[in-house]
Amino acid sequence: MSAASGNQERVFHGIAVSAGVVHAKIHLIGRRLLSIKRKEISEGEAAGEIRRLEVALLETRQQIQEVQNRLTEAMRAEHAAIFDAHLLVLEDPVIMDEVTRQIETERVNAEYAYHSVVERYAVTLSKFEDSYLRERVADIQDVSSRVLNNLLGHTESEELRHLREPCIVVAHDLAPSQTAHLDRALVLGFATDVGSRTSHTAILARSLQIPAVVGLEAITEMVESGSDALLDGYSGLVILHPGQETLYRYGQLEAKRESILIQIRKAIDQPAETADGHRIVVSGNIEEPGDIDSVRQNGAEGVGLFRTEYLFIDRDTFPTEEEQYESYRRVTEALNPAPVIIRTLDLGGDKFRSHMHAPTEMNPFLGWRAIRLCLHEKDVFRAQLRAILRASAHGNVKMMYPMISGLAELQQASELVEECKNQLRGEGRAFNEHLDVGAMIETPSAAMIAESLARRLKFLSIGTNDLIQYSLAVDRTNEKIAHLYEPTHPGILRLIKTTIDAAHKHGIWVGVCGEMAGDTVLVPLLLGLGVDELSAALPVVPQIKYLIRRVSLEKARMLAEFALSSESGGDVLERCLEFMNEVAPGLLEQGPRSDLA
Ligand code: PEP
Ligand code: MG
Repeated sequence: MSAASGNQERVFHGIAVSAGVVHAKIHLIGRRLLSIKRKEISEGEAAGEIRRLEVALLETRQQIQEVQNRLTEAMRAEHAAIFDAHLLVLEDPVIMDEVTRQIETERVNAEYAYHSVVERYAVTLSKFEDSYLRERVADIQDVSSRVLNNLLGHTESEELRHLREPCIVVAHDLAPSQTAHLDRALVLGFATDVGSRTSHTAILARSLQIPAVVGLEAITEMVESGSDALLDGYSGLVILHPGQETLYRYGQLEAKRESILIQIRKAIDQPAETADGHRIVVSGNIEEPGDIDSVRQNGAEGVGLFRTEYLFIDRDTFPTEEEQYESYRRVTEALNPAPVIIRTLDLGGDKFRSHMHAPTEMNPFLGWRAIRLCLHEKDVFRAQLRAILRASAHGNVKMMYPMISGLAELQQASELVEECKNQLRGEGRAFNEHLDVGAMIETPSAAMIAESLARRLKFLSIGTNDLIQYSLAVDRTNEKIAHLYEPTHPGILRLIKTTIDAAHKHGIWVGVCGEMAGDTVLVPLLLGLGVDELSAALPVVPQIKYLIRRVSLEKARMLAEFALSSESGGDVLERCLEFMNEVAPGLLEQGPRSDLA
């Protein structure tokens, strides 16, 4: 496309979701060149091939229109003509007639017929003197590769499995299941059109330490595979064709960051104790048993959130009780006596159930998700509960339920746990009779009934990612409304405070395991509000410990008092920034932040 022509530096602004700077060639997913094979077909198969082609053309039309819709006003003015031209190519009756004729008379497959007709057109156009006509070749090829990808059913997952050299992946979107399986040796960073800081894809990028920028709107339409680019996961930039000056500036910034990193690394082996002697527990969030080493290496005091759904997604069948038991046991034994909080299945929302025939939902985050799904699919839930209970015989396991919105759900889940315990007793299998059970506070209703929950549970863990999404009615994955996703909103702070007070009133501890716990600017505020535990993405655990050791709880409480009396989330954020810059100057440059989304 004309936007990417020439080697002029060009900066794309998005949402920084995973820290780090990488410089590599772009690998654009979803528009690769294809090798098209000729297949003979019988006379009776021709109609089917034509239908396949029609479906692929329809899909392509929708995709092009989606791209048009994604463009911002300013970009639309610049690029509208390009996509209108693409639609014209797609709907060109001459091309369609010729492809149909070829399928019927030459008896060849749809992709071969389409490819050969379109290539012939492109070759003819490229020979014209008129530059306008010559430029249409790129449009034709662009449209053609989309149609052929749709005809061949090529998926992005498949493309990601065939990367050959280290690159920056640029894609429209990456599902959490795709992100979880990225080859870190080859994917140095990724950039996507859509997404936001608390989508599960972003959370995984931080956990895997893959620098990432999302919400770039239509970057997939502006760049080409093979182009040189620099991805800045601190500030949310992708710089196409970075010049010498830019590269030099980034080199200087990295050197500055490295000097404070040396200080941060020292905190790994030190306790998370405030400057005035208050102990806080700092744990890590994990997705799979393979994260065990990272728990230790980053100085986490255990696992505050084991997102077990990653054992369930991107596979054809559910993991058996035995498989799950092995996974939970491995983590538990390796980290014993440190606590491992296993969260029961949180499928749904943006986490796909590839092997489940779940209905398409209008509002997946408000739908059949987490505990709701488990209480419906009781056998799936029972298998997991049994596996967790059995693992509890091997170390310090705790269990918590996601997305609790009322006492009835807790009651039903507890009954199932009792049933599983009885079964295990009958089978003579070991488990911890006194296993601590807690709940995540991630719906506004749960925060409001936190006292009732606290009376029945051993701990509460605030899932701020969802609590913010549900309280402020802001889809956590939608880049268009990311500016409304405000952790310091007075409503959010009151819900957090209500939860903390309820837990303490009933003598139980309360943690935060949402991304807010890993946002260093907001950590002093959470401490001041009274949390006992913070569980964050493992790579930020050293920064959090470093920061806690510099904060006095007394001053953090004053910050929280100010925050609770404020009517403006912006004012609170500003005060938090001032606070952090005072106690830990330079730390801000170490990572992307939720409020800068
Ligand atoms: C949360 O909602 O804050 C949370 C930790 O759970 P998840 O991000 O997996 O939804
Ligand atoms: Mg959640």
